[in-house]
Amino acid sequence: MELIRVENITKTYRVGEIEFPVLKGVSFSIQRGEMVAIVGSSGSGKSTLMNSLGCLDRPTSGEYWLDGREVGQLDRTQRALVRVAKLGFVFQNFNLLARTTAVNNVLMPLDYAPDHPGFALAHRRAVELLTRVGLNDRLGYVPSKMSGGQQQRVAIARSLINHPQVLLADEPTGNLDSKTGVEILRMFQELNAEGITIILVTHDPSVTACAHRMIRLEDGLVVEDVRNERQRILFSGHEPVGIGSPLSTASSDTGGDGHPVALAVPLRTKPREAAARRTSVTPAAILDVPAPRRLTRVAHWFPAPFRTAIGAVRRNKMRSALTTLGVVIGVAAVVAMVEISQGSRNSLMQTMATMGAHTLMVQSGAATSGGVNFGFGSEKTLTPGDADSIIRDCPAVQTAAPMVYTQGQVVRGNRNWVPMNIYGTSPPYLEVRDWTTLREGEMFTSRDVRSANKVCVIGETIARELFDDQSPLGQDLRIKNVSFRVVGVLSRKGANMMGVDQDDVILAPWTTIKYRISSTNAATDAAAATGSSGGKNKEVNTLSELYPEATSRYPAPSSTQAANTPQPVRFTNVDRIMVKARSAEIVEQAIAQITALLRDRHRIRDETDDDFNIRNNAEMMKAMGSMSSMMGTLLLIVALISLVVGGVGI
Ligand code: ADP
Ligand code: MG
Repeated sequence: MELIRVENITKTYRVGEIEFPVLKGVSFSIQRGEMVAIVGSSGSGKSTLMNSLGCLDRPTSGEYWLDGREVGQLDRTQRALVRVAKLGFVFQNFNLLARTTAVNNVLMPLDYAPDHPGFALAHRRAVELLTRVGLNDRLGYVPSKMSGGQQQRVAIARSLINHPQVLLADEPTGNLDSKTGVEILRMFQELNAEGITIILVTHDPSVTACAHRMIRLEDGLVVEDVRNERQRILFSGHEPVGIGSPLSTASSDTGGDGHPVALAVPLRTKPREAAARRTSVTPAAILDVPAPRRLTRVAHWFPAPFRTAIGAVRRNKMRSALTTLGVVIGVAAVVAMVEISQGSRNSLMQTMATMGAHTLMVQSGAATSGGVNFGFGSEKTLTPGDADSIIRDCPAVQTAAPMVYTQGQVVRGNRNWVPMNIYGTSPPYLEVRDWTTLREGEMFTSRDVRSANKVCVIGETIARELFDDQSPLGQDLRIKNVSFRVVGVLSRKGANMMGVDQDDVILAPWTTIKYRISSTNAATDAAAATGSSGGKNKEVNTLSELYPEATSRYPAPSSTQAANTPQPVRFTNVDRIMVKARSAEIVEQAIAQITALLRDRHRIRDETDDDFNIRNNAEMMKAMGSMSSMMGTLLLIVALISLVVGGVGI
């Protein structure tokens, strides 16, 4: 009966643009139970033909009928099913799984079978097959501890686990010495005698002599197809298993019916039936081999591939641990890096906030006189009322503080110092600057501002320069000869982005600075203009100008003159208003609100320009933002590299 028929099979390999025709139209048919040797010089296409016959590969064209079914053009999955159901393979270099015991190597093909017979039964079957090939004392051996012949026998046992109808062997004795080769060949003959069709590729004429038939392939074509009338039989008589052969363990229990034990328990029988049969035919040697316990326990719960995977992990403990470690480190690195970049971005944002990322500076406008522009701040248009109103009426504003600047020498006892900044301001200033923690004492109050009290809060540099280790609290210092009591010392802030020491500062109520120090208040301005009582004001301010009255170079205007040139209504002005928006995102909103409010308060008509100017740190924000996101990306890339190295590299 015909089992295999190939018609005009071709196979062409394509390497880049070039095509290599390897099989150029091969046709033959093989009967069930035949033993066929395929011979030919190296490179003639034998392995290619075997791969096509074994459904490992698809012929380029032609038909391949296996057991009455065309299988040449099946897809990958269908071919795998055909292989599992009908074919067994033996290779020249055994292709056993390293670090896997003989039993498990034999069991391996079952993991791909659609219906696994159940672990206990399969294990018994594997043991039987190994016993059959004479390896019942090597069940737990791994391939590296077995000789080539033994490995090939394991491979044969493996090829038989699925009850193949056809056994394909590609130079099965090529790697073996001649004596072992004969043993393997005898095994093939025995299997053939049991009805398994065998196709083997060989170079060896003595192997060919053992086959029924020889097909010679030359350059991709069948050039010879002859029947071997005088087949050399290697086992004794027609009894499949000879006494004294390596298979004698199995043969002693065949019960005289000529069928070897291995096939007495077909894999796909119901377990109970199998058990019944087993008790009658199983040799004692097989019963001595216990199934591995751990595996049987999990066998019921997990599908075969999963079990195989667990087995593989267990066999390669170190490698699995290292790989896991690598992946764990990689993932941890990714998580850590993302977190770190997030954290650093947050802290950067915080730093920026302390440097005034969402603070705004409202300056008075630029005065122009005779075509000469004096720059922002030269026109005095901002009032402390503006600051109060900004706090009250702009929802996007958290708080605001008016600012008055002055410069000058500060003296205490026999020491003196010129601070970088002397600011007149109001208590919200500290909030605007995110500087609410004081080292000692307290901020002056709004009451101090109202009554222009001579109190001040000093920065650390001032404290160090003027007070050394003493506590400055309650002590007096003189700013431009006006005595101030120190009520608080600011905590350390360090240098700002421009490298300016921010601790070199004195804060005092803006009214005090305005009226008692800087002397450019409305009263003096007006007084200087009218010439009345101006000297008296100056008298307060400075001891270095001891005789202010004496330096008056102009005669005071008469009352008529004064009446003819009325003075403009003056108000108390401040140099700047520092504003803090509620958050960095709504800085733009805050600017819009302040602009609207101040235009309204200053009664500016629509067509006229603002008489003030608002600056923010948008550029700084942008730069910082892009810097931090760049940092984040960089860290992420580093983390991903470590993940790849950890996960794939190892
Ligand atoms: P052999 O008869 O010695 O077993 P093969 O069937 O293995 O020869 O190979 C036949 C020819 O096909 C060789 O020339 C080989 O180089 C070529 N060949 C085999 N497999 C491939 C492949 N996958 N891609 C390209 N060429 C191949
Ligand atoms: Mg080959």
